[in-house]
Amino acid sequence: MNLPYAEPYKTKMVEYIRPSTIEERKQWIKEADYNLFNLTSEKVFIDLLTDSGTGAMSDKQWGEMMVGDESYAGSQSYLKLKEVVNRITGFEYFLPTHQGRAAENVLFSVLIKTGDIIPGNAHFDTTKGHIEFRNATALDCTIDEAFNTSIYHPFKGNINIEKLENALRTTEKGKIPFVVLTVTCNTAGGQPVSMDNIKNVSAVCKKYGVPLYIDAARFAENAYFIKIREEGYEDHSIKEITKEMFSYADGMTMSAKKDGLVNMGGFIALRDEEVYKRATVFNIMYEGFITYGGMNGRDMGALAVGLDEATEFDYLETRVEQVAFLGKQLVEYGVPVLEPFGGHAIFLDANKFVPTIPRNEYRAQALAIELYIAGGIRSVEIGTILADRDPFTHKNRYPELELVRLAIPRRTYSLNHMRYIAAVIKEIYNTRSQAKRGYKIVDEAPIMRHFTVKLEKIINE
Ligand SMILES: *Cc1c(COP(=O)(O)O)cnc(C)c1O
Repeated sequence: MNLPYAEPYKTKMVEYIRPSTIEERKQWIKEADYNLFNLTSEKVFIDLLTDSGTGAMSDKQWGEMMVGDESYAGSQSYLKLKEVVNRITGFEYFLPTHQGRAAENVLFSVLIKTGDIIPGNAHFDTTKGHIEFRNATALDCTIDEAFNTSIYHPFKGNINIEKLENALRTTEKGKIPFVVLTVTCNTAGGQPVSMDNIKNVSAVCKKYGVPLYIDAARFAENAYFIKIREEGYEDHSIKEITKEMFSYADGMTMSAKKDGLVNMGGFIALRDEEVYKRATVFNIMYEGFITYGGMNGRDMGALAVGLDEATEFDYLETRVEQVAFLGKQLVEYGVPVLEPFGGHAIFLDANKFVPTIPRNEYRAQALAIELYIAGGIRSVEIGTILADRDPFTHKNRYPELELVRLAIPRRTYSLNHMRYIAAVIKEIYNTRSQAKRGYKIVDEAPIMRHFTVKLEKIINE
């Protein structure tokens, strides 16, 4: 029998979301200066701003919230979490942190010095931020196929081994403290890295005596893609695959807000005792004592359960296939989206969707605003506004792609919500030729302007 998959959970509690009218939303987005970050949540019907910390916890996770051990040192919740991290990752040493970037801050404080180079696959922005903050350089070695939207590749998050080896061979010894591999690669659109690539990256790192760290925010989604796309892994369990992935690395940083299935949290896990010992000093300074590191006992308990749930096949199938369901609906409607679909988000290609809006009028932002007005859907622009201005010329930097990201929170929305989202986008797509004018910036911060930028609608003269 070939039955369709169904969610391996049912609903025990619901949270009402408020439908609103187009007229209300036109007014609200104007009051928010056409910046979706300025909208308060009750003005949003379906919130696809991010999949970070926005998922739903299970009853077992909520149960852990009640029995959390809030002891300052040696909490039972810490021990529960440590046991699960050891079992799932195979790493012996473990430090909790308050979220993913905090794990980066602590680990990089140990490993990075001025002038260093850290190769990786399209580093996530906080990772890059923590590297550049230390006057070091993030070197992108992602395969070229990752940024070519018309090519199909099952593992667009892969590292180009030649590029990596070239960097390791030609860089002065000691200047590459480690290589960081992000699974799945968020910056490349939630694209996975194959086991074969992880193995090869690890082998090159060993050859040059450089440690490999995994940015593991979406490690379970990556394992799902390996199971369904990579030869030889069909019959492996997700937990076997994740264990193998980590076996090629020396350690990891984790944003538990993603595949930890919790709303806040993170950790570092390591193989090397020496690095661990040095990291504990920074953990105590920046995060908290080594047995809580910025997390409540109850939150560590919920994370322990979350990591186990996130590494079950049935959950991951529901998760990744729900995202793909939305993608397939849009493709069916002829809407231009990036393919293959990412594990956590669908990306609308605004250059193909609304080429009629001039680029200097922020076409991806204009499309994101339209999505909000038409359907109460909050998405996020990954385009010219996000790319900021050139620090020297102060001119807009126009990235190759103008995207609108629809990030899907975990275990939160139903397939009907996906149908609704697709229907709203279809409507906008059918009237796209009328979209002629976009927006102008009236106020912006010198860096990271997207969070606080104020815009005005350009009225057709
Ligand atoms: C979210 C994320 C981070 C940072 O984690 P936070 O919990 O948001 O601080 C780092 N790397 C990747 C790949 C991420 O997706």
